[in-house]
Amino acid sequence: MTQEHAYPQRVRDNILPLSEADKLVRALAEWRFSGSVKDHGAAEEVCQLCDQESLRYHFEITNDLTGHSLEVGSQCILRFEVPVYENGERLTGDDPRKHLNALTQKMRLEACIKALEVLSLVEDNRILKGALEYYKKHKKLTPKYAFVVFWKLQDHQIDHQPSFFSISLKKHKFVEDLREMETDRVHRFWRALTPSQRQKAVDLGHPEPKT
Ligand SMILES: [Zn+2]
Repeated sequence: MTQEHAYPQRVRDNILPLSEADKLVRALAEWRFSGSVKDHGAAEEVCQLCDQESLRYHFEITNDLTGHSLEVGSQCILRFEVPVYENGERLTGDDPRKHLNALTQKMRLEACIKALEVLSLVEDNRILKGALEYYKKHKKLTPKYAFVVFWKLQDHQIDHQPSFFSISLKKHKFVEDLREMETDRVHRFWRALTPSQRQKAVDLGHPEPKT
């Protein structure tokens, strides 16, 4: 770990009163990631360790000695090497980062499924129900589903993050569907495409949307 004096004072001020040790490194060692996460739906929460603002996700850390808990950003857990466990084993090396990233991805997937569920409640539509079932099964949308889903999510003003969705171009048919689609329709789900999928769309004759 880095030298104790390198830590921001506010981290010290936040964690020492809730810990038994009176030095930061030893105080941090009393804490661990509890495994509990929360998606607040919008990036407007604060990290209770470093006071960073605009967090959408909270990761809970707990101190078994004092019984206290804090809602923090995943970056703080990694930066301050707060222990992360999986199945009772403490993760080492790059594994804490991978574990926290996987939890964030899971929350994003759940947010997408929630948006699709709301959508299929507000509009009784066979395509939308099909898209929901397809997303639950494959964690991706086909280009045809994607166009309808994004059109309808915008139309009904349902809260969603286009970049959280994934589109599948794995099958030849999906690529052909993308090729034959009107460019305006492709632009509906442009933000859900990965950089290489966007390049593919351009190669298929769909120029980037003008922002
Ligand atoms: Zn923080």
